[in-house]
Amino acid sequence: MTKVYNFSAGPSMLPEPVMARAQKEFLNYNGLGMSVIEMSHRSKEYQALADEAVQDLRDILRLPDNYQVLFMHGGGRGMFANVPMNLASKDGSADYVHTGAWSGYALKEAKKYTRVNALELECVNDKGQHSLNMDALKLDPAASYVHYCMNETIHGIEIFEPLDTGSVPLIADASSTILSRPLDVTKYGIIYAGAQKNIGPSGFCVVIIRDDLIKEPAPFTPDVSSFQITRDKGSMFNTPNTFAWYLSGLVFKWIKDEIGGLEAMEQRNKEKAALLYDCIDSSDGYYVNKVDPQYRSRMNVVFNLRDESLSDAFLKEAKEAGLSGLKGHRVLGGMRASLYNAMPLEGVKALTDFMAAFKSRH
Ligand SMILES: *Cc1c(COP(=O)(O)O)cnc(C)c1O
Repeated sequence: MTKVYNFSAGPSMLPEPVMARAQKEFLNYNGLGMSVIEMSHRSKEYQALADEAVQDLRDILRLPDNYQVLFMHGGGRGMFANVPMNLASKDGSADYVHTGAWSGYALKEAKKYTRVNALELECVNDKGQHSLNMDALKLDPAASYVHYCMNETIHGIEIFEPLDTGSVPLIADASSTILSRPLDVTKYGIIYAGAQKNIGPSGFCVVIIRDDLIKEPAPFTPDVSSFQITRDKGSMFNTPNTFAWYLSGLVFKWIKDEIGGLEAMEQRNKEKAALLYDCIDSSDGYYVNKVDPQYRSRMNVVFNLRDESLSDAFLKEAKEAGLSGLKGHRVLGGMRASLYNAMPLEGVKALTDFMAAFKSRH
């Protein structure tokens, strides 16, 4: 089989050394004569690997003691409901920053549980670029919390600085950018991420939460959705996704030991994104990305061909060249190359080489 670079938006590539290790120890974990997928989550051997994964994540993010790591079910979207069920006050409201598709889905879900104040930031700037109007960020100081999406996976828009919300807790959907760069965790009340972009298997959700936000949820909240119960039970109230936890732990170890932490990870990611955006920007308009440069996502690069009638040929020839998953999201069309942590620089080089060759052929 020839090497395929997978640019899919999620589930997406995982680091090759992680996959190789998981394969090697799949049938016999740590000499125990059974697979990790068969082990009781209550066994001391499993608990040891579970604790180590949490500790590695704490180390990578340099988490202060007043932040907890929770692993929950339901992926990223599960948290769209969990956040308001756990944090909304009965008669209050929550601020939802709307910057694209995913923050919009979060907002829509939250409306089932609380009054929502939507802050519409999407705009077209004077250069005709897709941008964000930060002046429209009129926050309510009495809001229960402010929710935003750090990286709009579909629109290719990333917000690099934490929003300043004063004393109102800031909640971030970091599904498609977590662990791609260092974060000042202390600026956030909660950072959460569905795992299948930068961490591991889908269905699993990583939640970084400040202690004071772990409290009695709304009475109708399912126990599996309660931050309080999840914390009290060490994320093992019911059977966790043990394999996802294990594999995520291998990814944390890879970032910590092989990459050398989030500063090094960020350097790699900056280099990859710059290579692709440069290729687009220097194509004399053959390829176009219309996002305001200050908000261009490092993880999801969206672009169109000037002559859209060539899009099908582009995708077909890319696939033949071992470059898969480049078709844009169905709501936007065009192309999207996801450059998550596991995508090596060589993969992006292969893509830009292909793009240059395609341009000269067509
Ligand atoms: C993929 C994604 C989600 C949804 O994750 P699921 O695990 O499919 O629920 C939520 N938010 C963002 C920003 C995403 O990229």
